[in-house]
Amino acid sequence: MTRLVASLLFDGPAATVAAGQAALTQGADLIEIRLDGWADSEAPVDPVVEGLPAERSIITCRSAAEGGGWPGDTQRRVARLIEAARQGAAYIDFEYADWRRSANIRQKVRLAAADQTPGRLILSSHHFMGRPGDPAKLLADMARERGLAAVKLAWRAEDIGDNLLAFDLVRGSAVPAVVLCMGEAGLMSRVLAGKVGAFATYCAPATGGETAPGQLTLADMLDRYRWRSIDQDTQVFGVVGCPVVHSASPPVFNACFERHHVNAVYLPLLVDPAEGVLQRFLAGCARRPWLHARGFSVTIPHKEEAARYVGERIDPLARQIGAVNTLVADGDSYRGYNTDCAGALDAIVEALGCEPNDLAGMDVAVLGAGGAARAVVAGLRRHGASVTLYNRRLDRARALAGEFGCRVGPWEQRSAAGKSGLLVNCTSVGLWPAVDESPLPPDALNAATVVFDTVYNPAETCLLRDARGAGCRTIDGLTMFVNQAAAQFEVWTGLQPDKGFLRRVAQTALGSAGASVRG
Ligand code: NAP
Repeated sequence: MTRLVASLLFDGPAATVAAGQAALTQGADLIEIRLDGWADSEAPVDPVVEGLPAERSIITCRSAAEGGGWPGDTQRRVARLIEAARQGAAYIDFEYADWRRSANIRQKVRLAAADQTPGRLILSSHHFMGRPGDPAKLLADMARERGLAAVKLAWRAEDIGDNLLAFDLVRGSAVPAVVLCMGEAGLMSRVLAGKVGAFATYCAPATGGETAPGQLTLADMLDRYRWRSIDQDTQVFGVVGCPVVHSASPPVFNACFERHHVNAVYLPLLVDPAEGVLQRFLAGCARRPWLHARGFSVTIPHKEEAARYVGERIDPLARQIGAVNTLVADGDSYRGYNTDCAGALDAIVEALGCEPNDLAGMDVAVLGAGGAARAVVAGLRRHGASVTLYNRRLDRARALAGEFGCRVGPWEQRSAAGKSGLLVNCTSVGLWPAVDESPLPPDALNAATVVFDTVYNPAETCLLRDARGAGCRTIDGLTMFVNQAAAQFEVWTGLQPDKGFLRRVAQTALGSAGASVRG
């Protein structure tokens, strides 16, 4: 069983005991007691020994070189760790860099570690600046030491692909291993540690208590990612994008998988836009069948790249749009779909109370010429709407208009869009955190115009507020989001989720964390 460890870096024994007891009650398997954070570095450890169960503790005193706060020299730090360890802890974590430095240190730490129960030593190595030169060799070197409980290697992820390397290292290690990637891009390595059979994963006891970049809270691990239900058969889904931190997809899909009793987890996957990163990641997932990566949502800025990546295995509508927002694993490759188009079109016809064909001849203004605009315009033109495009970069608007037979208006004259029958905002203006921005001035809006904002975070954008103020009927981005998410879920699982349920979960996620939904 992979242990869920809450790491406790507090300024003294009292706060450590309080947080440790709370973490264990909440569901942590182990607590990591970090002596290096204590304001009084010589404070007695007795309160911790008395207040927290030794059999559920890892004790460590992290060096400054590896991200710790210990103020003194190595000899004193080793002495401090040994004193504390002798009073009882299931595991002692010691830095491999210092272990290698001197035979004397090795002997002392080994003796302390073997004092009560043999095999309670964790040798660790932390790299906050990036991936070490040869992580496989480093892990293997650590693992060669005798009598270890585990080896632990953590580095700041250079990109999402580092997670796959981390999984390979855990799976190939001769002794139980923890391999974690720090930073937002490394989230996968933390949440899927149990799936690949790691010795442990580490989390923060609560928000603000993170001891490493990208560390999730205990509550996120247990509730959002359902840590206890992840096993080696768990299917993996996620949203690839940059940024993904604002996405409501992880809470929505995880809740949906739980509701439908599907053994699956859905993760926010920060994929750098740099050349080749997305392709390498997708290919890397496909090459690892044991990962059970079944599908991905695709968001900014990867939709067009995803369309190119799937090549011939693209749905005709997605091909026409030129953007893929849904990837479905299929053997060693992927099929690509676009559910944004139907998601937007359904939102429009539901709100207007009409059939798609009734859109023929309707005067529609679309702001934007990116991926969302392509999907919306493809759907509208397919049903004969008369579309005028406004985009900040005129050349992009012209190119899109040329493909789909639309008119183009200069961005500076976009106020004219407020007088059309239907106005659709497909720019990212108004998206969190710029929640007070709108792509149109309020006085440009005509009460007869139906206003649809595809931005869904926040659910009520500045544009929609202004539109309501002007007496317009409105359609929010959450409706489109729910429609396209429901379609994705169906493509992946064959199940039709309840859209009302999806909307409630999305609203809660957006509302409870403010607009700053954490991924
Ligand atoms: P994208 O491909 O990056 O396109 C962004 C668009 O916004 C471009 O037209 C860009 O204009 C414009 N833009 C960005 N900043 C601007 C500014 N400060 N002033 C004027 N225009 C600006 O992104 P996308 O995938 O199309 O997504 C756009 C929006 O749609 C996002 O907010 C996203 O949340 C939303 N969306 C919602 C759903 C849903 O389910 N509700 C689904 C997909 C997307 P330039 O071309 O001039 O740069």
